[in-house]
Amino acid sequence: MVEHKNSRAVRRARDRGPFFGRLLLDLTCRLRRFDTLQVLEKIEEAPFLSPEQVRENQFKKLSALLGHAEAHVPYYRALFRSLGIRSQDIRNMDDFAKLPILTKDIIREKQTELVREDVPLATLKPHFSGGSTGVPLKFYRSRGYMVASDAGSYRNLEQCGWRPGEMIAFFWGGNDKLYAMSRWEFEVRQFIRRTYQFDPFHSGEAEMAGWAERFRKIRPRVILGYASTIARFAAFLDSRGQSLDGIKGAFTTAEKLYRPQREVIERAFGCKAFDCYGSSEVQNIAAECAEGRMHVNADYVVVEEDQATGDGPRPFLLTSLWNWSMPFIRYRNEDCGYLSPESCSCGNHFPLMRLEIARTSDNFLFPGGRVVHGEFFTHLMYGGDGIANFQFHQTALDEIILSIVPGPGNTEERQKKIRDAIRQIQSICPGQAVRVEVREVDMIPLSSAGKHRFTRSDVPSGSASTTVAEMSS
Ligand SMILES: [Zn+2]
Repeated sequence: MVEHKNSRAVRRARDRGPFFGRLLLDLTCRLRRFDTLQVLEKIEEAPFLSPEQVRENQFKKLSALLGHAEAHVPYYRALFRSLGIRSQDIRNMDDFAKLPILTKDIIREKQTELVREDVPLATLKPHFSGGSTGVPLKFYRSRGYMVASDAGSYRNLEQCGWRPGEMIAFFWGGNDKLYAMSRWEFEVRQFIRRTYQFDPFHSGEAEMAGWAERFRKIRPRVILGYASTIARFAAFLDSRGQSLDGIKGAFTTAEKLYRPQREVIERAFGCKAFDCYGSSEVQNIAAECAEGRMHVNADYVVVEEDQATGDGPRPFLLTSLWNWSMPFIRYRNEDCGYLSPESCSCGNHFPLMRLEIARTSDNFLFPGGRVVHGEFFTHLMYGGDGIANFQFHQTALDEIILSIVPGPGNTEERQKKIRDAIRQIQSICPGQAVRVEVREVDMIPLSSAGKHRFTRSDVPSGSASTTVAEMSS
């Protein structure tokens, strides 16, 4: 095998990982019984194989997934039977492209028939997603999938020279478990896991001043997380003439990264911003390389364009190669873009793509200055029975309109979910009244870009908010 210079660079980087940090990360993985670093080692070279090998390996994984789905997933067993074919009849990508598309409606309708039946359901973890065009989805993932996802993220980070064991500043929504920890427990946990979490659900100016101080103490080498929060933090530093040293790369995900956001991130952190594309249903879809081009992680996901649609960016069809718990095969997630036949000079032979339309989330500013990332609100509705769709619309500093499209299911459950959501919103800023008006509607209008937005705010949340960035991009 011809060894490419980048592959050697990756190996060198790994060999020189920081001794103490690496030791801690190793230990944490062992304690959690996560073989993330072993998986990372196995996948590190994959992007640097020849284009033919990349395609061949991808198809091998795809065939294995199809065989598994036919054998162990009721929905796919019935599907192959109805088509009068066996999974092994699919011998190339053209054959594969003839399989029917998996839509969100099918997932909602078939739900349990899409889950593998050869392992107990209790061993799988349920998850929820808003997706990008509305209507929450429930799906399952296994522990192995989570490990592979982490390893895939680590491989993305290695592109900027990050080495396992170096501290990651992670901007991601908190959860009850995290909030319940004592300060001491939180700090120790973040330190040994080598991932320090900053909470976009508490991201006002006072918190961001605290983040800057934290950064100087924990000295992260990379930044990873919500594009809008990282950009707001960068703008906060920038407006004060501050910058932070020693950061090798900023990796944004979960939201589209707009040009002004990229600029302020690169300025404040003095490093390149890498736009990554993933979703909760299908993680690790693609990541930008050092040349600024987006490569599909071909060993994780098969990305196709939906050929049935007209001109302009086409909806993607995604097949997750690692999720055997609830296989998503030719899943249309309603993000749009292009696949490119070109190759990139960076040495990575994974195929290139361009993302045109993807999810955006607003940040909400409340009385007293607390800023809450839109994902906070989306989470309030996950798992709600009887809710077909929803939107949180902040119309004033102290007012939110919650629009609900009722769906089939339990009305009691729906009312309870709404009451809980209102309670949680009102606890955002204790002592200050925030009105929540609930409206039951038949439909929620799409944005001018034709996308459903779970959250929107008319209140500017400070410099480089998503709204500002969107207008100027
Ligand atoms: Zn590249």
